[in-house]
Amino acid sequence: MLVNLLDFDAEGLTAWFAQQGEKPFRARQVQRWIHHFGAGDFNAMTDIARSLREKLIATATVSPPKTISDKLSDDGTRKFLFDVGNGNAVETVFIPEDDRGTLCVSSQAGCALECAFCSTGRQGFNRNLSTAEIIGQLWQANRALGYDPKAGNSGERIISNVVLMGMGEPLANFDNLLPALRLMLDDNAYGLSRRRVTVSTSGIVPAMDRLAEACPVALAVSLHAPTDGLRDKLVPINRKYPLAELMAACQRYLLHAPRDFITFEYVMLDGVNDSDADARALLHLVRDVPCKFNLIPFNPFPASGFHRSSAERVRRFASILIDGGIVTTTRKTRGDDIDAACGQLAGKVQDKSRRVLRAAGMAAGSPGTSAGVELHP
Ligand code: SAH
Ligand code: SF4
Repeated sequence: MLVNLLDFDAEGLTAWFAQQGEKPFRARQVQRWIHHFGAGDFNAMTDIARSLREKLIATATVSPPKTISDKLSDDGTRKFLFDVGNGNAVETVFIPEDDRGTLCVSSQAGCALECAFCSTGRQGFNRNLSTAEIIGQLWQANRALGYDPKAGNSGERIISNVVLMGMGEPLANFDNLLPALRLMLDDNAYGLSRRRVTVSTSGIVPAMDRLAEACPVALAVSLHAPTDGLRDKLVPINRKYPLAELMAACQRYLLHAPRDFITFEYVMLDGVNDSDADARALLHLVRDVPCKFNLIPFNPFPASGFHRSSAERVRRFASILIDGGIVTTTRKTRGDDIDAACGQLAGKVQDKSRRVLRAAGMAAGSPGTSAGVELHP
């Protein structure tokens, strides 16, 4: 079995090189070739001695997930579908803007958390992505977007920001995520600043604490409701980590990331969580957490059972938060002509959780409904 070098951050690669009897500076050189210059072929690594190149060819590989499709939206958004084996595929979305280029990366094939309004959550769960499959999305997108290896340090990287907001719950895959995050920040790899890498979580409190200790990148928390009663239905992990614990975890996170703030994401669901009273309750809820709000107009998918709040409702909701002193933005919907908008990423998931069967009331002993169905009979 060849060892996939995309599975290693700097520490891991140095350790693997040491096992092969090779010096740490060789690991640094090879890492630079792979991640900084986007090389996948050991023979292209011209300043590496031929004997080491031959040894690497015999023992190792650089294997990102293969691209199944690559679609371009009218607005420039680009969606990649990557094969992660056994009939599973995940999506990665590149969103170009005037002042930045953001890559939205997936962390799992499917998601086990079953948020009521999320297409990925409805697909069921298959497995965690490996480090190679997570960082491999960035590696592949960089190449596809025409990053010029020869330009090296002076070349503009087209991807300036990475957000873990694709398919899956990144903090439910902590051990594989961490080396990928470290590579994103590593000057000898992608060299992104800590604030340009964002992990989005539905609120897995213990893993938020681990992330704060290990690698305090920017944190986005998917809030979606001002009360436990409603959040229990929309974001079921709330039953395990309710709002009071989540807010305390946000405060602890910021102790490790001073001068930062938490971004609260809030999907705007017509008649469900978008009233004036909800906005005022949010102001009270987050009063001790330095934060911004990002309102996301709900992106529909077949049989979701939810509707998007009207533009006027979103404006009114935002103005209450802004008047309460909170910086609030509304996310522009991008790439919806290619189903690349937030929450529309479905990929291809061989559901191991039998959720699809349960939701259809077909599995033995199943309740036969999901939270979304109960909310919108
Ligand atoms: N699992 C993580 C990250 C992936 S989801 C999380 O939940 O935070 C990224 C964001 O898209 C989350 O804020 C999620 O709530 C939001 N989202 C999910 N489905 C959506 C939909 N149909 N419309 C708009 N946003 C959605
Ligand atoms: Fe999973 Fe996030 Fe979708 Fe919830 S919103 S089901 S945590 S991917």
